[in-house]
Amino acid sequence: MNISRVLVANRGEIAVRVIKACRALGIESVAACSEADADSMAAQMADSAVTIGPPPPAESYLDIDAVLAGAEKSGADALHPGYGFLAERPGLARACEARGLKFIGPDAQTIARMGNKLEARAAVAGLGVPVVPGSNRIANLGDAVQAAAEIGYPVLIKAAAGGGGRGIKIVTGADGLADAFAMAGAEARGAFGDDTIYMERAIVNARHVEVQVLGDGAGNVVQVGERDCSLQRRYQKVVEEAPAPSLGDEMGDEIRAAAVTIARHIDYENAGTVEFIVDRDAGRFYFLEMNTRIQVEHPVTEMVTGLDLVVEQIRIAGGEPLSVAQSDIATDGHAIECRITAEAAADGFQPRPGRITHWRPPQGEGIRVDSHCRDGELVTPYYDSLLAKLIVKGRTRIEAVARLQEALAAFVVTGVETTIPFLRLLVCQLDFVKGSVNTRWLESNLDALKEGL
Ligand code: ADP
Ligand code: ADP
Ligand code: MG
Repeated sequence: MNISRVLVANRGEIAVRVIKACRALGIESVAACSEADADSMAAQMADSAVTIGPPPPAESYLDIDAVLAGAEKSGADALHPGYGFLAERPGLARACEARGLKFIGPDAQTIARMGNKLEARAAVAGLGVPVVPGSNRIANLGDAVQAAAEIGYPVLIKAAAGGGGRGIKIVTGADGLADAFAMAGAEARGAFGDDTIYMERAIVNARHVEVQVLGDGAGNVVQVGERDCSLQRRYQKVVEEAPAPSLGDEMGDEIRAAAVTIARHIDYENAGTVEFIVDRDAGRFYFLEMNTRIQVEHPVTEMVTGLDLVVEQIRIAGGEPLSVAQSDIATDGHAIECRITAEAAADGFQPRPGRITHWRPPQGEGIRVDSHCRDGELVTPYYDSLLAKLIVKGRTRIEAVARLQEALAAFVVTGVETTIPFLRLLVCQLDFVKGSVNTRWLESNLDALKEGL
């Protein structure tokens, strides 16, 4: 493999995760850290560490020049962007290419194309894969009124450059359209530097189902099964699982095949995820978007397939062929992940920075915890509040649910407030236990859940 030293251009649990993959491959890792993360687990675990700037992300993890300077200083020959931060910035992939630094992900052009939701929809439209009914770019209120009339309420106004659940607004009737339209453009410009917005039909009774793919950039693409991420708050995932409950063999086969069709069409290289929305009332699915990076919830796929997706990412970038053929990939059992954050669930999920005094994650068969936290860990206000991902596996879904309940009960964190109590309550709800929630379930049940806290 032609990679020998990887710059890990991220922080938190995903930085630790990438360092572990480098170790598994016997290659060196360099942690690119802000000053706030100089003593982080990633900095300690990596073969070396390089400081890329002060704590604010704009001056470190989001500063392409600072990251590249770190790569140069450390002598790395490849860069792993993790998720979030610069992972989906075509500019970083392009700058890496220009410097002969291998970017562990697809090429800049693919990131740009799939990172724009309108372009991605256009790329998929001709492939026979259904795309959520929607509009083209909406330039003014007149366009918005016309598009909404054609699509039919409720509609979602979406930022073409949006991500992380941001830049999505639901409009339930003509009354709310003008206000939502005015806000959406301004917010998109502020958040993403691009005010392009468009409209989609809002699928009311929906499940989020996504398919993990791996491609070698030479036409070989495999799908590594699907995940269900329907438990969401503010369009952001809270609990994810694999395989997707009650998808059915027929739709499952179709949705996995659709993901492969899309990835093949764009000659996809590296790991990616094709997201779909399943309309439960109509019994059909639609393409939603593609994420051109490793995803937060990748461990559930690893638990049921035995594959190491981050190792695969590095191998592909290093010019190796895919280590698996489609016929080698099988899933076994059921895995569920929940995201544990330093937030006050009872107080609108406000971030709660502070110092962790005791960090006692659960251990045991079928339990995996991906985290960067330790006793004494300082949770700063600068970054995302994700502390850990708890992933469990069982032979069946119900066994996995039981294991998740036990593992959450045993998870002890003191010193900072976390979402563990909220998650304990959540995973005991009958609708979750039965695997029957839709994407609106959590928001609709939030007040009732909070009463139990
Ligand atoms: P996943 O499907 O992997 O959970 P998310 O959409 O939740 O992906 O995003 C992963 C991380 O990246 C989150 O921390 C999210 O806030 C961040 N993120 C994703 N897209 C963007 C974006 N366009 N701008 C800023 N942050 C983003
Ligand atoms: P992001 O880039 O922020 O992840 P997505 O397009 O993936 O944006 O949408 C995030 C979530 O918003 C989805 O998982 C789903 O729950 C909801 N969503 C998006 N589009 C639709 C739609 N057309 N109908 C219903 N829900 C949607
Ligand atoms: Mg998405």
